[in-house]
This record gives sequence, structure tokens and C-alpha cells, in this order.
Amino acid sequence: MKTALITGITGQDGSYLTEWLLEKGYTVHGLVRRSSTTQRTRLDHLFHDASIYNHRLFLHYADLDDTTTIRRILTRTAPDEVYHLAGQSHVGASFEIPETTCQFTAMGTLKLLEILRDLDKRPRFAHISSSEIFGRPLESPQNEMTAMRPVTPYGVAKAFATQMVTLYRESFGLFACNAICYNHESPRRGESFVTRKITRAAAAISMGLQDELVLGSLDTVRDWGYAPDYVQGMWLMLQQDTSDDFILATGTQHTVEHFLAAAFEAVDLDWRQYVRQDKAFMRPSEVQRLIGDPSKALRQLNWKANVTLPELAKQMVQHDREQLQAKSDP
Ligand code: GDP
Repeated sequence: MKTALITGITGQDGSYLTEWLLEKGYTVHGLVRRSSTTQRTRLDHLFHDASIYNHRLFLHYADLDDTTTIRRILTRTAPDEVYHLAGQSHVGASFEIPETTCQFTAMGTLKLLEILRDLDKRPRFAHISSSEIFGRPLESPQNEMTAMRPVTPYGVAKAFATQMVTLYRESFGLFACNAICYNHESPRRGESFVTRKITRAAAAISMGLQDELVLGSLDTVRDWGYAPDYVQGMWLMLQQDTSDDFILATGTQHTVEHFLAAAFEAVDLDWRQYVRQDKAFMRPSEVQRLIGDPSKALRQLNWKANVTLPELAKQMVQHDREQLQAKSDP
């Protein structure tokens, strides 16, 4: 049976990927940052399963810039596959902390590649890249050949990391793939991302717990899919005969307003009565016309995004209602 190592295991994608790999019989090692809080709610159900935690699922403390520790963990665990999901993942925050963003997202990836290059037994490597690398693209939809034109510190850092992965594949023969993922959401999405912020607010408003939702731009466009679909795409990439880059996207475009309408519709409310816009949530610059062309993934991996935006919004609102209900129950 195979062994995988995941950086960023406690995040949205890390938790779904862990479940997927455990289901497939893998042993999973996860890297976690040492911090004062031990909040790992997305993995709690696995930690409480005595047949899994410390049997087929192991956690190791290592920051992405701690190369000595990461090298030691990689040598000891000898994974067949490495999924690199960690990094500073919030685009808006990357304007406030560009250095940290580059330190972890750009340099963290390079440091990992350098370690892999030196290993005797080199694992297959998937870097989880982002549509943010395209920024203001010259063509739409974007495919694997579209030029990178990032416009956010996060996008610039991801573009560097993505290009490095390609370079290590081509120059050093690493089995290394870029999963160029468009936005993907779920009930486990962080609460500062717009979809989750909206679904939590729709749930709270419908239960009389909140009366207003403050947002930034409503007309920006995203290609939003469902996270569990995307982690399967990441896994499929590493099961191929050769390594390559793949766009993972739905190929459909929606505005923030569309998502708002879908989320509030799920609780029979009209979003226009509750939403106020505030400059505080608007960004110095925004990506534009981001929509992915996932046809290569369909052709070569037989992968496609299955969940539509209204289904996604509904599922997230339902989850948030249940969570709020559980909190308010004595
Ligand atoms: P991103 O694509 O990784 O930046 O995902 P986000 O969920 O953070 O943002 C998606 C879009 O929603 C961007 O165009 C934001 O400008 C827009 N947006 C509008 N209001 C908000 C808000 O209150 N919070 C966030 N995070 N984004 C917002």
C-alpha cells in the first residue's frame, strides 16, 4: 500500500484529500505548523478514530522554511507521493503580508523541490497551484499554455512556484505536476473567503441571528467548484505514466452576486435586503476574466467537476445552519 505526505493537511483541501487517500488504503503523513492553537476541526473526526490516527494517519510538526526537519520527515516516511497544499492561501491578505506570502508560497515550494531533488527515492509531487497565476489573462478561458500575468502578491508567488515545478520536472527529471486549481469551496472553506462568509450570513440571517452582511465587490467573477472533486483531480495526476500540468476548473463563470442569490435562495430570502458594500473589503487590484478550460483534465485524467454553483451554495448554507443550530442548542 502507498504512502503519501501532505503539506497543509489541516486546510480544506488537505482534509478532503486525507479522507480520499485513507479510503484508497494509503498511509498518510501530514505536515502541520507548530502554533499556539491546536485547532484542527476539519480532521477531528479522523483523530478520534483510534483505528486511523497514529495507525494510518500521522502528523509531523514542520514549518515550510524548516528544511532540515522537512528533509528528515521525508527521509523517514519515504512517501510515494507528496501533495504540496500549504502556503499563505488568502489573496486579500497577501496585499497586507506580501513577504510572508512569498516566503511560504514561493520559497517554501522551491525549498521542498530542492529536498526532493536530492532524495534517493524521489516521490511523485503535486503542487497545488492557482488560477491567480493568470491574473489579467490575454485569453479566456485559460488553459495550461496560457501566459501567466498575476496581479496579486499571492498570484506572483504562485506563478514563481508553478514555474519552478515545471523547471524541476524538465531540468531534473522530477515527477512533478501543477494542479492549476480555480476556486473550490465546501462547507470546510475558511470563513474569510467570500462564499463561506455569504453562506454563514445567509444561515445566520435566516435563523434571526444576524441582520446584515457587509461585502466588497459584487460584480467580480470566479469559476467556483466543489473542493472534494478537486482533490480527486490532484490524486489522478499522480497516477499517470508521465507528469504534466492540468487545469482543474468547472469552466463556468459566476459573479459574487450570483453566489449571493443562490445562497439566499436556499433559505428563501432576498439578499438585496441584507447586503451592504464597504470599501474595506475591496482589493487594490483584482484578477479578471478568470475561467478555466478543464478539457485536458477530462481528456487525460477523465476528471470533471460535478457540482453546480446552486448545489454548492445550498449544501454550504445547510451545513452552516446545522452548525449554528448545534451551537445554540444547550
Ligand atoms: P479568491 O479568489 O481566492 O480571492 O477568493 P475570495 O473568496 O477571497 O474572493 C472572491 C471574490 O469575492 C473576490 O473578487 C473578492 O474581491 C470578492 N469579495 C467581495 N466581498 C468580499 C469579502 O467580503 N471577502 C472576500 N474574501 N472576498 C470578497
